[in-house]
Amino acid sequence: MVLYVVATPIGNLEDITFRALRILKEVDLIVAEDTRHTRKLLTHFEIQTPLNSFFEHRENEKLAPILGKLKAGKNIALVSDAGTPGISDPGFRLIRAAIEENMDVVPIPGPCAAIACLQAAGLPTDHFFFVGFLPEKPGKRQKYIETLKNLPHTIVIYLSRWKAAKHLEELAQIFGERNVCLGREITKMHEEFWRGSLSELAKKVVSQPPKGEMTLVIEGFKE
Ligand code: SAM
Repeated sequence: MVLYVVATPIGNLEDITFRALRILKEVDLIVAEDTRHTRKLLTHFEIQTPLNSFFEHRENEKLAPILGKLKAGKNIALVSDAGTPGISDPGFRLIRAAIEENMDVVPIPGPCAAIACLQAAGLPTDHFFFVGFLPEKPGKRQKYIETLKNLPHTIVIYLSRWKAAKHLEELAQIFGERNVCLGREITKMHEEFWRGSLSELAKKVVSQPPKGEMTLVIEGFKE
């Protein structure tokens, strides 16, 4: 009947909303990116709703049974490992398929690393461009960064720990000097925000690769 797209915390469990907790308790089924991960969240909040994996490996095979349940009148909540499903996370195909089947799709808003980092970055947020992860292949990535170079809006990029140094070096090389904010482990115990210039940040990350999850906010191009 209804597919609820439910945002969950990106670290601090207190960030879950009252509405998210109610929906997770009330639905017939929760479908999750990784059931082991979501199980911990459900156990913490004493939620006993049945839980199924959706994304682990065979997304296509899992789509039909979930749609079948929605069509049979069941309410389902979609969650990802952290933050908002569909934002650089799986979920889009299920959401689109549910819409195509004329099911109601209801967002339950909440944490998102991109928005959390923008909240504290101190860079303009009236317009921003969300990149998510940069392309994997070096040639494609560098070309893509070139396309962002003259964008006047603040840019938000998700960095993986293993590739952060390489990606920052390339960004510094192509963009030149820019103000940036790197949010690390946002809402977690070791949360920190590093604000300064892109080239300084690139040097710092290359010499001392930081641990944990990172989101980068870069000032837009100025004439
Ligand atoms: N759907 C999620 C959201 O709404 O934020 C994003 C999922 S994406 C697979 C994971 C990336 O988000 C990480 O590699 C990191 O760049 C960013 N991220 C997630 N949690 C974070 C946190 N606590 N602090 C900083 N960045 C985070």
